[in-house]
Amino acid sequence: MSESTSLSVRPSACPGLLRIVASRDGGICRIKLPCGQLDARAARAIAEAAERHADGVLEATNRANLQIRGVHAGAERSLSADLLAAGLGPRELAADDVRNLLVSPAIGLDIATRFDAGPLARQLLDLLERTPRFHGLSPKFGVQLDGGESLAMLEHPNDIWLSAMSADEAPQLAFGVAGCPPRHARDCPPLAAVPAAQAPLLVETLLHLFLDLAGDGQTRMRHLREMLGDETLLERLRQRLPFPLCQGTAVDNWRRPATPAFAHLGIRPQRQPGRALVGAGFVLGRLDSATLLGLADLAERFSGGQLRLTPWQSLILPDVAQIDAAVVLGALGNLGLLIDAARPLSRIVACSGSSGCARGLADTKADALRLADRLRLAPPAGVHLCGCRRSCAAAHVAPYTLLAVADGRYDLFRRTDGLAGFGQPLARNLSLDAAGELLAVAGAIPDA
Ligand code: SF4
Repeated sequence: MSESTSLSVRPSACPGLLRIVASRDGGICRIKLPCGQLDARAARAIAEAAERHADGVLEATNRANLQIRGVHAGAERSLSADLLAAGLGPRELAADDVRNLLVSPAIGLDIATRFDAGPLARQLLDLLERTPRFHGLSPKFGVQLDGGESLAMLEHPNDIWLSAMSADEAPQLAFGVAGCPPRHARDCPPLAAVPAAQAPLLVETLLHLFLDLAGDGQTRMRHLREMLGDETLLERLRQRLPFPLCQGTAVDNWRRPATPAFAHLGIRPQRQPGRALVGAGFVLGRLDSATLLGLADLAERFSGGQLRLTPWQSLILPDVAQIDAAVVLGALGNLGLLIDAARPLSRIVACSGSSGCARGLADTKADALRLADRLRLAPPAGVHLCGCRRSCAAAHVAPYTLLAVADGRYDLFRRTDGLAGFGQPLARNLSLDAAGELLAVAGAIPDA
C-alpha cells in the first residue's frame, strides 16, 4: 500500500478495510463483501491475513460481511495492503464505506425469486462506488434490494429499501426510506413504486436529495424523514425525477410475503433443478482462520468455489448438487458450524461484550454459552445478549433481549408491537441463572 493510502479515510468509529478501529482485544478490520459473496481464493487470503496480522479470529457481521478481530498494533497497514492485493477492496479507496447493499444470500438462486435482482444489485453497487459524492455518506448508511426471495432479512431497517412487488422479468419495485419492506397490515406502506429499470436513477436521485437537504449531524435517512415528513419528501423527489412515481391502492396495500424462520440453516432447494443451498451458522458469529480455510476447501469441492455470507451471521454454500447436499451439511457441522435450528446456540446472538469491547458491562459471549447450556431443553424463540444499549450484534429487535447492567447481570425485555427499544421489560437486574429460568418458561410462549 502506498503512503497515499490513508488508514483513516475520514473520522468514524466504524471499522473498514482501511480504517482499523481499536477495541479491547485489538484492532478490528471490516471487509465488505459485494452482496455478501466471496470465492475460495479470497476466503483463503482473509484467513491467511488474519493469521499473519492478527490473532486468527474472525467475525461474521449482520450485514453479511466479515471482520478480522485482534489486529496487532503496528500491523494495520500491512493487513490492509494484503487485503487490497487480494482484490478485497473497493474500486476506489474512498468508496470502502459506501458498499452497504443488502441483498438475499440466495439472490438469483432462491425458489421464490420474483425477479433475478443480481444485475440490478451490481448496477447499484457500481453507482455507490463510482459516485464520489456518495463516498461521504455515513458508513452505516444502507440500501436494501429485495427480489422477493424466501431467504431474505426483512427486519433490518435500511436507509433506502426496494422490494419486488410481483413475479415477472421486469417487476415494479416498491420502495421506502428509513425502514423495512412492510409485511403486516399495521406496517408503514411503501412511499411509491417504480419499474425495476428506473431503480438506479431513483436511488441516485434519493441519495442526492438526502445529501442536498440533510443538515449538520443528519447522517441517516430517518433524520431527513423526520424533518420533512413523507409527503414533502415525495414531492421533492418527484420534482427531480424524469418519470412519474407509481402510487395508489395497489402500492399502499402491498405487503411483502413473510419468510420462514431459520431458513438460513440446513438444505434448501434452488430454482436451478438438481441444485441446493446448504447453510450453517457461526457460533455467536465467530470463526477462526482454520475454519475459514476449511470452508474454502469445501466450497472448492462442492460449490464451484463460491461462499455467501448472510445477515444471520451464517454462511451458505450455493449450487451444491442435491445428491451431495447432506454430505456438505455434515461437513459444515464437522467444522463446528451450527446446522440445526433447534439448538439453542442457533437462536442466540451476542455482541463482543466486555471481553472485546470497552463499553461492555458483561462478558456477553461467555454468558451466551452458559445460557445456551441452560436452555438446551427449551430453546427460546431468539435471544440477544447486549453488552450495552448500542445493540451492535443485532440490527433488529430480537424476541428477547438481555441487556447487561453489570458483570453477569441483565435486564430482560420481550419484543412487543408498538413499544420502542427492546420492547416490554420483563425483569430487572437478573443473574444469568435467573434469566435462564425465565427464558426456559418463555420458550414455550409464541413470539409476540
Ligand atoms: S453493544 Fe455495546 S458492549 Fe456490545 S459490542 Fe456494541 S458497543 Fe460494545
